[in-house]
Amino acid sequence: MSSIENLSDIVDNGLCIGCGLCQSIAGKDKIKVSMSPKGRLEPKEISKISPEVFNKILNICPGTIVEGLPKEEVTSDAKHNLVWGYYLSLCYSWSTDKKIRFESSTGGLLNGLSIYLLESKKVKFIMHTAADSKKPMRSLSKFSYNKEELLGGESRSRYGPAATLDRFHEALGLNQSFAFVGKPCDISAIRLLSKTDSRVNKLCKYLLTLVCGGFAEFTKAQDFIESFKVKEDELSIFRYRGFGNPGRMYIKTKDGREYDREYNSFWGEESTWRVPFRCKICPDAIGESADVAALDTWRGGSPKGEDEGFNAAIVRTKKGLDLMYDAAKAGFIHIGDKLKIEDIDDFQPHQVNKKKAVYARHLGMTKNDSPTINTKGLRIKELYKLNSEDFNKKEELGVGKRIKKI
Ligand SMILES: Cc1cc2nc3c(=O)[nH]c(=O)nc-3n(C[C@H](O)[C@H](O)[C@H](O)COP(=O)(O)OP(=O)(O)OC[C@H]3O[C@@H](n4cnc5c(N)ncnc54)[C@H](O)[C@@H]3O)c2cc1C
Ligand code: SF4
Ligand code: SF4
Repeated sequence: MSSIENLSDIVDNGLCIGCGLCQSIAGKDKIKVSMSPKGRLEPKEISKISPEVFNKILNICPGTIVEGLPKEEVTSDAKHNLVWGYYLSLCYSWSTDKKIRFESSTGGLLNGLSIYLLESKKVKFIMHTAADSKKPMRSLSKFSYNKEELLGGESRSRYGPAATLDRFHEALGLNQSFAFVGKPCDISAIRLLSKTDSRVNKLCKYLLTLVCGGFAEFTKAQDFIESFKVKEDELSIFRYRGFGNPGRMYIKTKDGREYDREYNSFWGEESTWRVPFRCKICPDAIGESADVAALDTWRGGSPKGEDEGFNAAIVRTKKGLDLMYDAAKAGFIHIGDKLKIEDIDDFQPHQVNKKKAVYARHLGMTKNDSPTINTKGLRIKELYKLNSEDFNKKEELGVGKRIKKI
């Protein structure tokens, strides 16, 4: 199997998600993340990085390594499921603020928890993802110190590429407590970084995530605006969802033209999603190492219409459980009915299928002489062994065809 010798091997083998953590480690003068013609955020080594820095990157890059919940975070009363990992509680939950609930992705659980953390002074700021105010189709990492900053920039599902961790070392350098909200791959990278950088656990107090089906390459958003004959520099708002659940895909131009499309019609068939290869082989898209993972609760996996917004929460750690109870007690979120693992399976059939398929996909990569992701504590081999031979073969062969298209 070919191995990873340098940064471009991660990118060229389709393992990079464009999180920007390598840039954050090496510095912008050494590594720069930028949008590729294919619509992916990709890092480039612009001046030679030392072997020590490259090794640091290899040990945390979500393209090379992903691990489950650290042992010290697993409490004795945690339940465990082969697909969904460790959890202390499964429940419905949403923001009690009607405006936040309406305008956020699902029911505003993540924004609601973030605002609670800020207003209760448990953290100084939230590191999360928002729209670039000058180029609203693009996403940026953001540090928000109050409710207005947090909500004032499209802090809702951004389904395009986002370098969520490109300023993570800048956040650590501020020497202030903060919480990070991001995708499962981001959270795993932060947990791995915490093994070698003691500032992470000291300062980054909470890790909140969303269950993640993958993001769409930038070209999908470009095609969307072009279908209305709108150019990127004409945009004042670009929204994937929210203002309802799921809400509509919506754009507004600087001269006031508005266009929208139903959530389901934007996504359509899975084959048109333009999800990068790395997401198809993702060993943890369910936020195994976060304190809390938020998800949609559409039975069967896709919305049948609009509703008021009902998140489910997979609460994984004691810290996550305390946060949920404290935020509910302080009136920021509502905790609804308890859920069972079977409910979560029903809400997320695509995640169940991916978790079962991932090990076969990794095997397919290895057999095609392609490097794959090192994993630990994610049970993907155990799940593989429970699958039918036909299922595994199909997944193994399928990935071989995809490798050729990276
Ligand atoms: C790429 C992507 C894939 C998704 N796939 C699924 C899925 O498979 N199943 C599912 O149930 N839901 C999925 N979602 C939707 C979303 O996670 C849920 O709706 C979840 O319940 C959060 O809802 P909320 O109302 O609590 O979020 P909100 O309160 O609206 O908060 C959203 C938070 O997510 C952060 N965020 C937005 N976009 C990104 C991004 N690209 N990278 C990192 N952080 C981001 C924001 O900064 C904000 O903090 C996905 C979202 C994204 C961005
Ligand atoms: S750290 Fe992130 S941006 Fe850098 S190579 Fe890895 S996945 Fe890509
Ligand atoms: S599917 Fe996995 S790799 Fe892709 S964005 Fe989601 S968590 Fe990251």
